[in-house]
Amino acid sequence: MDEKGSNTLLKEREDFISCKHENGSNKGMKCDSNSLSGAISQRACVYCGARVVLNPITDACHIVHGPIGCASYTWDIRGSLSSGDDLYRNSFSTDLGEKDIIFGGEKKLVAAIDGIMEKYTPKLIFVYATCIVGVIGDDVKAICKTAEEKYSLPVIPVMAPGFAGHKSMGYKTAGNALMNLFSRNILPKVSGVNILGDFNLAGEMWIIKEYLKTIGVKVISAITGDACYDELKMASSASFNVVQCAGSMTNLAKRMEEEFDIPFVKISFVGLEDTKSSLLRIASLFKDKEIIERTQKFIKEEEAKILPTLNRYKENLKGKKAAIYVGGGFKAISLIKQFKELGISTILVGTQTGKKEDYEVINSLVDDGTIVLDDANPAELEKFMKEKGADILAAGVKERPLAYKLGVAFCDHNHERKHPLAGFIGAVNFAKEVNDSVNSPVWKYVKEGGENYER
Ligand code: SF4
Repeated sequence: MDEKGSNTLLKEREDFISCKHENGSNKGMKCDSNSLSGAISQRACVYCGARVVLNPITDACHIVHGPIGCASYTWDIRGSLSSGDDLYRNSFSTDLGEKDIIFGGEKKLVAAIDGIMEKYTPKLIFVYATCIVGVIGDDVKAICKTAEEKYSLPVIPVMAPGFAGHKSMGYKTAGNALMNLFSRNILPKVSGVNILGDFNLAGEMWIIKEYLKTIGVKVISAITGDACYDELKMASSASFNVVQCAGSMTNLAKRMEEEFDIPFVKISFVGLEDTKSSLLRIASLFKDKEIIERTQKFIKEEEAKILPTLNRYKENLKGKKAAIYVGGGFKAISLIKQFKELGISTILVGTQTGKKEDYEVINSLVDDGTIVLDDANPAELEKFMKEKGADILAAGVKERPLAYKLGVAFCDHNHERKHPLAGFIGAVNFAKEVNDSVNSPVWKYVKEGGENYER
């Protein structure tokens, strides 16, 4: 068996998996393609990709035009926090059934919009066209246009049939829906940034905003964690876009650069080193000596506060090995660095929607022998985690049972957690969670298939 374990992997998946060798490179690794049928991809559909990006807009109504399952499967999908409205936490559906599929669902959509306008006071409405709507051809755009005229508020179609691609296509679709909104208000530039690609799962957007306030950088618009319509309307006036989740937001950032002349930089507030470098990067955009000095001082103070705690955890975690499986490349890259900060080496890295350039960076950061996977499935994760002797898996909620069944510690780096993992506080929370899970006494008693999993 070679290092890819090709005797048990699906042959068609082999090109999506690589093992870093000395002088090796992942340049030839396949990625950003359709999932292999039957390989149990963990990627969500186009509609879901669009919904996760747009759903955190707190004062919007999100109407899912499709069968009830599409709406229920994505209800409150991010668990994003709001400082104001909570309208976004409802999941409205046209609940299309068999008759609607035969005779058309347009009347139901019109009725849904009318019903919502009667009972609620949304600032804007998103209407998602799901798989079946893509098939039966309801004219969602025309209905949205009529509703806009009738109610004098933005009613934005999100054309996202699930079969049109995978989650990445949904991100692009959401970006286009946001551009539809932004383009209605093209404003003169002011000094400040839009924050793209933080979804405020556990208050991270608030942490980042507070940091930027401290260093003297104005936040024009949060896209989309804890976003609201009045703020989003100002997005075109920002002098820069700072992009955290590059996977979901790069398309939007590029369009904003082309159409509104807003340059963008990629940043990440995941991990101590990335937090420090991102703050400096944002500060340097304004070429203002005072902002830069304030930022340097702030970093020094905040780092001094947390370093003793981080060093204590580091002592406990020496020599441990981590596996990472996350949605986008930006998070995987930051996590590799963050594990390294804690003295943990990464032995497996996978992403759902990583791009060629992400995998090149990943390859440059990991040690020889590290397995890199695009669009991995649970069987591949299990195989390589066992082979490489992972002590912890940092991933999303779907992978938690897999880790526990293997007797491997787990860190939820996605939707379900309640503590923030961004910024200085996030670095401490992450170290604590990793330490508590890796060093839990429970692993001594866990058996897999009647035998101890050798760790
Ligand atoms: S794949 Fe189609 S039917 Fe399934 S949730 Fe996505 S849009 Fe709905």
